[in-house]
Amino acid sequence: MTKSNTQQAKCLCGSVKITAHNINPKFSVCHCDACRLWGGGPFFAVQCGAEVNFEGADNITEYASSTWASRAFCSRCGTHLYYRLNKTQHYNMPVGIFADMKDLVMDMQYFTDKRPDYYCFSNHSKEMTAAEIYSYFAADI
Ligand SMILES: [Zn+2]
Ligand SMILES: [Zn+2]
Repeated sequence: MTKSNTQQAKCLCGSVKITAHNINPKFSVCHCDACRLWGGGPFFAVQCGAEVNFEGADNITEYASSTWASRAFCSRCGTHLYYRLNKTQHYNMPVGIFADMKDLVMDMQYFTDKRPDYYCFSNHSKEMTAAEIYSYFAADI
């Protein structure tokens, strides 16, 4: 097991403060249509497990973005806070909200066949297409 890695984050306006107790610095990038529509670009996400505490939770708006996951943002400033899987209750949070993360590595790119032609990362990472993801995660969805 990896050692516990606690990190803190806050939204742009400071209304929501987050403490995540089990962050994996190997982050993923999602090129899917929903993530690009949500944030205007690919979603850089760190896996935070289920042990996440929120201060100012009254300011969080959460909605079901699909039948298997929810997305949330700060109701005051709009900062995107998390994508959470219903089944595991595990949080995926934007890399950029954690100011002090170290040793970050782009480990995986999801939905690479959905990536538009107008950008491409030079990072070397694992990659999965939509078909590979649906077959791999079929059991979890
Ligand atoms: Zn905010
Ligand atoms: Zn996505």
